[in-house]
Amino acid sequence: MIRFSIFGVPVEIQPMFWLTGAFLGDAINARTKEDVLKVLVFMVIMAISILVHELGHALVGRRLGGGYATITLWGLGGLAYNHGGRFSRSGNFWRVAAGPGAGFALGLLVVVLLCLGLGPQNGLNLTNRSLFGIYITPPSDELRAFISGGGPKLRIIHAFLWINFWWGVINLLPVLPLDGGRIAELFVKPQKLVYQIGLVAGAAMAIFSVSYLHSGYTAMMFGYLAFQNYQMMQSDRWS
Ligand SMILES: [Zn+2]
Repeated sequence: MIRFSIFGVPVEIQPMFWLTGAFLGDAINARTKEDVLKVLVFMVIMAISILVHELGHALVGRRLGGGYATITLWGLGGLAYNHGGRFSRSGNFWRVAAGPGAGFALGLLVVVLLCLGLGPQNGLNLTNRSLFGIYITPPSDELRAFISGGGPKLRIIHAFLWINFWWGVINLLPVLPLDGGRIAELFVKPQKLVYQIGLVAGAAMAIFSVSYLHSGYTAMMFGYLAFQNYQMMQSDRWS
C-alpha cells in the first residue's frame, strides 16, 4: 500500500490499482524486458492521470464545500471524498465536473508541450494520430523522423493523450457511478429515471464496444454498469 499527501490531501494507492494497471497495460502478453518496461510506463502514466483527475474532484470539492478531502486509487479507478463537506447543487456540479476537467487540462498541457517542442503543426498532427489514428495533414519529414525514432517518449505521449482524452470522454457517459451519471443525477428527476438512462446508455456502450471498438474489456465494464443500474432501478421502486 502506498500512502502520501499532495496539496494537503492524503492519497492511498491500493495494490489492486497496480494489478488493474498491469492488466490494462497488457502485462499478459509481455515477453521481453522491453515489454515489461512498456507495461510499467503505462501503469505510472495511468496512476498520474487518475491522480490528477481525483485531485480535481478533491481540491474543487474542498474549496466549494469544505470538509476533509481524501483520495483512494483502487481496483476500479479512483475515488475522491470530501468528508463532512456541505455542497449546494452547483457546488456539487463543479466538484464532479472538476475531475474530467483536470484530466482534459492535463491532456491539453501535453498537446501544448508537443506544439512547443515540435512546432504547432507537427504537435497537432501527432496528437490527432494518437487519438484518432490519422494525420490531419501529410506528416513533415521532421515528424516522420520523430515517430520512426520511436522509443519510450512516443509511448509516453500516446498514453498521456489517450488516457486523458478517451477515458475522460467515456467517463462522461450518463451511466452511474461514472462522473457523467453523477452529473445526470443532479439534473434528472426522479432518481429512477437516472438509473434507466444508465441502463440504456451502458447497454448501448457495451454493444458499441463489441461491434466497433472490439474491446472486450470496455464491453464487460459497461455491461456490468448497465446491470448495476438495472439493479438500483429495481430496488428504487420500493424506496
Ligand atoms: Zn471522477
